[in-house]
Amino acid sequence: MSTAPAQSPFPAHLLREDLRDFTGYSSARTSHAGPPARIWLNANESASASTVDPYGAQRRYPEPQPPALVAALAAAYDVPAERVVVGRGSDEAIDLLIRALCRPGGDGVVIASPTFGMYAVGARLHGVPVTDVPQRDLGTGWAVDTAEVAERARSAGARLVFLAGPGNPTGGVVPLADLARLAGDLADQAVVVLDEAYQEFNRAPSAVGLLGSHPNLVVLRTLSKAHALAAARVGCAIAHPELAAVLRRVQAPYPLPGPVTALALAALAPDALHDTRCRVEDALRGRIRLVEVLRTDPRVRAVYDSEANFVLTRCTDPDGLLGALLASSIVVRDLRHLPGLDDALRITVGTDAEIDSVAQALTPARIAPVRTR
Ligand code: PMP
Repeated sequence: MSTAPAQSPFPAHLLREDLRDFTGYSSARTSHAGPPARIWLNANESASASTVDPYGAQRRYPEPQPPALVAALAAAYDVPAERVVVGRGSDEAIDLLIRALCRPGGDGVVIASPTFGMYAVGARLHGVPVTDVPQRDLGTGWAVDTAEVAERARSAGARLVFLAGPGNPTGGVVPLADLARLAGDLADQAVVVLDEAYQEFNRAPSAVGLLGSHPNLVVLRTLSKAHALAAARVGCAIAHPELAAVLRRVQAPYPLPGPVTALALAALAPDALHDTRCRVEDALRGRIRLVEVLRTDPRVRAVYDSEANFVLTRCTDPDGLLGALLASSIVVRDLRHLPGLDDALRITVGTDAEIDSVAQALTPARIAPVRTR
């Protein structure tokens, strides 16, 4: 007999009232429920294969949620498959959450700047007001004031809170105890999303362990960063099974192209996962080196602690630094247009050779390339 604790129901009043009985688009792949078919003539696909696809692997529409990929993601993140909604990067998951939980032009989303831009973009495109609870700059790190987030979510009538851990562009994390308290405080008010796009580079555990005790918590993961498949556009939401079912109904019919599913499955096979762990180790060593390189440059006045594959810096002379990098054809992210970051740059951890190039570009006269291995 199973000893798994009974799953608490998802608080249905958090969903858009007008979508509670919405069944979504009935696609050719999902609408046939009868006995196994021999001949499929229900989707207006071509009767024969393309010459560029001689085995006909791409002739038919794909599964909306390819079961093998969903199972592989569930295994990789150690969650039940019924919680996984796979789509076109975590960007799509962000959009689905906003559309499923916020009425067009109403409700609200809370963010904690500086943060990933797509939360506010998705909200804006849906006409949803955004409440910002800026993070506190601690000089070497950042802190999300989760008590303030809870209070502002309540007063704004928000249905969604987007936090990122490790965050972009801060590289900082939200302690799991704070996240659990926030989800508990907002259990009857809002869904709390932790975007874990960079979790593989974080030394602390994922928030997926909190999902069982917090029905209103959602975790986002992606194959775009540590798995090195940004162009494939594969990410997922990990949510309460009842919310996951709603997100699938809100999603466009066939989110993942067949070749992309095959690539993602290959990336989640044991050997590829081993390679991913090696790449992450390389990035962690590279991060230490990049920080050393940046701290040696007199134009850099702060380098924040990072649990991601990039670092955030503040500079006394950002133009000088950018100019020196550009003179060596090195492009980094200029964040000076963002509130409170008017002297900040974000630099991705590249290969050893790329970090050598950054070192040489910054202070060619003083820094000999430092290698940690
Ligand atoms: N979340 C964060 C915090 C990000 O920084 C990014 C991309 N830079 C994304 C999500 C989007 O990831 P994906 O490629 O999975 O859409």
